[in-house]
Amino acid sequence: MSGELLYEGKAKQVYATDDPGRVVIRFKDDATAFNGVKRATVGGKGRINCAITAYLFDLVAREAGVAHHMVQKLDDERLLCERVEIVPVEVVVRNRVAGSFARRYGIHEGAALPQPLVEFFYKSDALDDPLMGEDVPVLLGWAKRWELQFMREATLAVNDVLLRFYGEHGIDLVDMKLEFGRQDGRLLLADELTPDGSRLWERSTGRKLDKDVFRRDLADLGETYRELARRVLGAV
Ligand code: C5P
Repeated sequence: MSGELLYEGKAKQVYATDDPGRVVIRFKDDATAFNGVKRATVGGKGRINCAITAYLFDLVAREAGVAHHMVQKLDDERLLCERVEIVPVEVVVRNRVAGSFARRYGIHEGAALPQPLVEFFYKSDALDDPLMGEDVPVLLGWAKRWELQFMREATLAVNDVLLRFYGEHGIDLVDMKLEFGRQDGRLLLADELTPDGSRLWERSTGRKLDKDVFRRDLADLGETYRELARRVLGAV
């Protein structure tokens, strides 16, 4: 099923398959932060991120009607996916003040925003993913106007579903980053839906159940992810 390694990212590998229109994505046990400056290997992380992504892709397709690139989960660490051309725009949706938003405006983390906020960042490791207004990707040819509008609406719809889902497990979805890919003239939700790309705070205590644990040395990342997976998926 898996052929040649096409691409290796910080947390995933992409392999060719016999079908030129499909790829296999393998989730690695590697954790990185600050654009790869901080690194560790965390046993079981790939399996957990693969399971959470597969579960949440199904959920958002079913409940929000947002199409994604996953075809099926192949095994513990691998998804068969449609091959897409990733749009070089990272879409962040925020429900609470945290992270780079808190730093940018000099405010404390934690306050709820009156409504979800969508921000676009240029996907560029070399430039550290700069924030963009909505005209920039259109004028520079990185995305069409309709694609940005579609990504904004799809992201808000995914956010609605995941806010409710995590909320039912006593967890606040603070923010998350989504990526989309082009396939035959349509846009699919792509990449992953994991605690690497989301902030998840335990509602009763504020305890972090996401990659900030690793970025900020707050607790053991493997234990944190195992606990999150137990809580939202049952056993993994
Ligand atoms: O750092 P910032 O506050 O902008 O991150 C917002 C959300 O997007 C966080 O959940 C973070 O994990 C995610 N993110 C990501 N990849 C990036 C930047 C942010 O997954 N390159």
